[in-house]
Amino acid sequence: MEVVSPMTTTVPFLDLRAGYEELRGEIDASIARVLASGMYILGEEVAAFEREYADYCGCAHAIGVANGLDALHLALRAMGIGPGDEVIVPSNTYIATWLAVSQCGATPVPVEPDPATHNLDPARIAAAITPRTRALLPVHLYGQPADLDPLLDIARRHGLRVLEDGAQAQGARYKGRRLGGHGDAVAWSFYPGKNLGAFGDAGAITTNDDDLADRLRVLRNYGSRTKYVNEVQGWNSRLDPLQAAVLRAKLPHLDAWNARRGAVAARYAAAFADADLVLPGVPAWADPAWHLFVVRVAERERLQSRLAAAGVGTLIHYPLPPHRQAAYRDLGLPASAFPLANQLADQVLSLPIGPQQDDRATQAVIDAVRACL
Ligand SMILES: *Cc1c(COP(=O)(O)O)cnc(C)c1O
Repeated sequence: MEVVSPMTTTVPFLDLRAGYEELRGEIDASIARVLASGMYILGEEVAAFEREYADYCGCAHAIGVANGLDALHLALRAMGIGPGDEVIVPSNTYIATWLAVSQCGATPVPVEPDPATHNLDPARIAAAITPRTRALLPVHLYGQPADLDPLLDIARRHGLRVLEDGAQAQGARYKGRRLGGHGDAVAWSFYPGKNLGAFGDAGAITTNDDDLADRLRVLRNYGSRTKYVNEVQGWNSRLDPLQAAVLRAKLPHLDAWNARRGAVAARYAAAFADADLVLPGVPAWADPAWHLFVVRVAERERLQSRLAAAGVGTLIHYPLPPHRQAAYRDLGLPASAFPLANQLADQVLSLPIGPQQDDRATQAVIDAVRACL
């Protein structure tokens, strides 16, 4: 008797190796260049990536650091934020956004998102501002740009700094202009799974503020501008030249890769237009980087387990908001205090998306989701 398998394609949530395979020649040559250079800390490779990434973002400076959390933390430090200060953060973000504030000795003050975009709701910010508020820290969550103009306007009126968490949004545009120089600074992560990903930890800060850039270069390198002369107590958080080499090989392909992500997103959006789930809301002014394709569905666990059984990998970004993490018990925020963050945590599901995901895989996801709903 013939056995027919119903599942012909399994789709991983994200295949990082496929990205390497596509650019193997360029990446290998880039890495070999660093190995042969004899320069293994900072140096020309890091400086070249910083120039290229700043140009790409359309801003004056990029400062390479060890990871995205350090990019956020050091940017806040460079802005002079410390104990007693408050920084407004989204209630529904990855915990790194909050941790960066806490690492400065300051207090993260959560504000709920606009449920349509999952990004910080400018209309809710005024109520969270106190005399201690020093900065706004919007996140371009899932690669969707946050609505920056109203945030910048609030910041101007209250004398606040604006640091953007761009970890998920390399290449995204807000009102036609690429992210990188709208606020005072943008913190980037090049964690391997991000749209521009290294082969290990890496991060950067972009800014048009010369002073901030100068302070960041000192802070990331032991508080030192000249070897063995330490102006301040700094950190060791330098971008690794091997990671800079990987990023330099990938950067020229970022727009094309983001466009391929956009094509996957467009197919999902068309296929699920009448399905019983909430699709990502994209405002007219947004050109998202489509880091994640996040839907909302009431019976999320059921859909996720049925997709898993059909060979489709999914993830939840994020299952437990920071205010309910043990790490933030000390803030004493009641679990029910942020109902939108709680609801999103219960309903969001990220479908597979990536620049190397082919049409057959995308169709397999579509078929599997439709069979479940
Ligand atoms: C990935 C991520 C970070 C942290 O980046 P690391 O490089 O892992 O430290 C910060 N914020 C957001 C929103 C992220 O997705």
